[in-house]
Amino acid sequence: MMERMIEKFYKSLAKGKIYGTKCKKCKEFTFPPKAGCKKCGAHKMEWKTISGDGTLHFFSSGNLPPMKFAKYHPYAYGAVELKEGPVFFTQIEGVDVSNVEAIEEQNMQMPMPVKAKVKKMAGMNIVVFKVVKSQAKKKSKRKSKK
Ligand SMILES: [Zn+2]
Repeated sequence: MMERMIEKFYKSLAKGKIYGTKCKKCKEFTFPPKAGCKKCGAHKMEWKTISGDGTLHFFSSGNLPPMKFAKYHPYAYGAVELKEGPVFFTQIEGVDVSNVEAIEEQNMQMPMPVKAKVKKMAGMNIVVFKVVKSQAKKKSKRKSKK
């Protein structure tokens, strides 16, 4: 059952949809999707896309990346609290991990708003979070992406 859920989760990611599961009994939200509720133990879970809004609490440079991600090293790895509740550890974009001082300085500015996106890495679709820049900055350098 768990394998089918993982398959569905990754198939959805390929389409740009990020799913979590919500318990039908106690409404607890789980991410990534799980077959059972960690809070009340119920097995009636409902698939729901996440809003993508989150809060970054801390990050460090990923110094022990899985082998297949080694070529992307170094990258930022941090703890994001989803708007829906769960805390998720993943790659963070939009932060500087080039040196220890920069990492420390940015961590003192936490929490930071982040937004989820699907990224293709090593042939896999993974969920990463990107730091949301302030409005003023966004306007001054608006470039059309794609
Ligand atoms: Zn529950």
